[in-house]
Amino acid sequence: MVRRAHRCDVQPVMVEPPCSEALFSEGSTLDLFNKAARYKRADDLKDSGLYPYFRPIAESCGGTRVQIGGRELVMAGSNNYLGLTHDVRVMAAARDAVDRYGTGCTGSRFLNGTLDIHERMEERLAAFLKKDACITSGTGYQTNVGTIATLAGKSDVIFGDRDNHASIIDGARLAFARHLKYRHNDMEDLERLLETTEIVPGGGRFIVTDGVFSMLGDLAPVPEIVALAKKYGARTMVDDAHAVGVVGPNGRGTAEHFGCLDDVDLIIGTFSKSFACLGGFVAGPRKVIDYVRHTSRSVIFSASMTPGSVATVLACLDVIEAEPERREKLWDNVAYMKKGFEALGFEVIDGGSPILSIVIGEDVTTMEFNKLLFEQGVFVNPVLHPAAPPGMSLLRTSYMATHTREDLDEVLRAFKNVAEQLRIVR
Ligand code: PMP
Repeated sequence: MVRRAHRCDVQPVMVEPPCSEALFSEGSTLDLFNKAARYKRADDLKDSGLYPYFRPIAESCGGTRVQIGGRELVMAGSNNYLGLTHDVRVMAAARDAVDRYGTGCTGSRFLNGTLDIHERMEERLAAFLKKDACITSGTGYQTNVGTIATLAGKSDVIFGDRDNHASIIDGARLAFARHLKYRHNDMEDLERLLETTEIVPGGGRFIVTDGVFSMLGDLAPVPEIVALAKKYGARTMVDDAHAVGVVGPNGRGTAEHFGCLDDVDLIIGTFSKSFACLGGFVAGPRKVIDYVRHTSRSVIFSASMTPGSVATVLACLDVIEAEPERREKLWDNVAYMKKGFEALGFEVIDGGSPILSIVIGEDVTTMEFNKLLFEQGVFVNPVLHPAAPPGMSLLRTSYMATHTREDLDEVLRAFKNVAEQLRIVR
């Protein structure tokens, strides 16, 4: 069993900076930029050699291997679950779209930025998700912010899981709605809030949850959520950024997995994961989507998805619909890795998604572990407090349908070596 490391195992490196740093405006305590002058966490991490962020990829070989700083690494930290960023058909579709429409739309969907393929993509997505209609925005982040702020207002109450994605929280802020957070996946807590919260006349209840939670990779209990929504007259929205394309028998996401696709009002998704490019969508009842289409600030005041991205989404949809074996291969890989990590004695959080988070323990050990993995040729993502519970920092690993057994064995070998090196193996 791999032992969780405690603070005494390694020296701490993330020292909080003193507050008496030199100011940008000498002598002034009112300079807006003071906070930037005082910010030292990134520099401290760099000085300690543990800085794990913004690592520039010089080349990506098939998506499963990347070149960084002259080193080849197995990529076990992407959201490219189906490996479609490097599918020859998808790449050709993106190139053809650039030839036909150019590189960008230079305007919002509302005005000059709607292409015929935007409309085809939205119709195809709505049909795929068995919803009436769909509208896209530039990113999943924008889609959450725009949709929530459009549908909820001052009189409404948003009930959100405490671990929801930042874009949901920001959407609630922009909505100026009351935002009540329930304990992660805790349906008793959600019901308590629904029961005890008074709604002003004209207001409504909106339950919003991630379908797959991005850090731990666990699934929301969607059937229980929709049952509570029915009981308390609430509307529901599931952010299935990590699920559409991979979770559910046909890749329709968490609600399909649980057999309650019809009961969820709105499904949010992103194109930055299984759809191999950039953009976001919301699918739901026609009237609601039409309202979002004409009033969401993310749709109206921001440029539309580029032709290459739209064509990429259409080509990915073709693959997702025609090749269920890709999902099977992905789940085989996930099962193989889970078994492999457990055989090595690691504590694995497997929530039923392509994400396997490995519990390491203290922040510093996790960063150290991450650095040594990098040196051994493996790219993963450290998840520290507050994204993980205190003393339970994680290494978030995630898998692709296109990972080979050789890639996966390399990841397991590196984890074993580093655990031994850090002497955190019993
Ligand atoms: N929702 C969830 C649950 C996510 O994990 C993410 C991206 N990490 C987003 C929304 C935002 O998606 P995008 O990258 O398209 O902005």
